[in-house]
Amino acid sequence: MNDFLDFEHGIHAVDALFKRPRLAALHLIVEGGRAALVECGTNHSLAQLQRLLAHCHVGPEAVDYVIVTHVHLDHAGGAGAIMRHLPNARLVVHPRGVRHMADPGQLYRAATAVYGEAEMRATYGELLPVPRERMLETRDGALIDLNGRPLLFLHTPGHCRHHHCLYDERSGGMFTGDTFGISYREFDVDGRPAVVLAAAPSQFDPIAFHDSIERLRALRPRWAFLTHYSRVGDVDRLADNLHRLVDGHVAVAESARGLAGSERHHAMAAGLDRLFRDHLHEHGCRLPEADITALIALDVEVNAQGLGVWLDSA
Ligand SMILES: [Zn+2]
Repeated sequence: MNDFLDFEHGIHAVDALFKRPRLAALHLIVEGGRAALVECGTNHSLAQLQRLLAHCHVGPEAVDYVIVTHVHLDHAGGAGAIMRHLPNARLVVHPRGVRHMADPGQLYRAATAVYGEAEMRATYGELLPVPRERMLETRDGALIDLNGRPLLFLHTPGHCRHHHCLYDERSGGMFTGDTFGISYREFDVDGRPAVVLAAAPSQFDPIAFHDSIERLRALRPRWAFLTHYSRVGDVDRLADNLHRLVDGHVAVAESARGLAGSERHHAMAAGLDRLFRDHLHEHGCRLPEADITALIALDVEVNAQGLGVWLDSA
């Protein structure tokens, strides 16, 4: 299986093997033989990381940083297992994520409430803790040095409050986790990417989302490396689209505010399905409707759950 993506400036990606091909990516930034991993995927991603390191001729001892953009389990579920494999790495995490990485029990229970027990066992398995002394908390605006290559961290709430993104000036690339949307490569039309919004439970915050999108855009990045799925250009256009999608989510939630329970959930899921589908059609996506449904179904479902939590907390 050749699922490696090799970009300029020592940036490489591999499939994290989360649920389906090309749903989630691990990225490696290599600088002079030392490396930083961006995202951990799940416990099932460790073998993929090992393949990626071998592909890049980087030994496990040469990984200085393991960066999780936030502690949702498709990004950080494999952190404990991966840190055991990388003896010199420090886990770079938003301050609000530290206690969850040290003691992942609450994270597991919260995710079980969203996804159910069977899904949790199959997709994530046991979450291993990371010792606190191996963690490095970021401040907003912090610089981390990868063998002389500065990586700038920005705190970017909106998707969740424990989210940071990093900007790598060398490549002009930002690594945006779930803050700068989701762009499955299947959405591409003549090489042009399209984004949808990530609004999974439980901390969707539209005002913060708009602000974070603008802070990222202000870096004037050439590329965004998304966890879902890897490198996209056209950052300005995508930022505009993300703003519209944030507003679209708010509109879908507001129009369902008078409903309750599963009726409200289904109304919001239908609204988000329409929002994403219209956006992809407008982009020129010519996939059969059933293929679009298969690609967006998970995001529609979890975003509808996220909007439900937001309505109840507002
Ligand atoms: Zn994600």
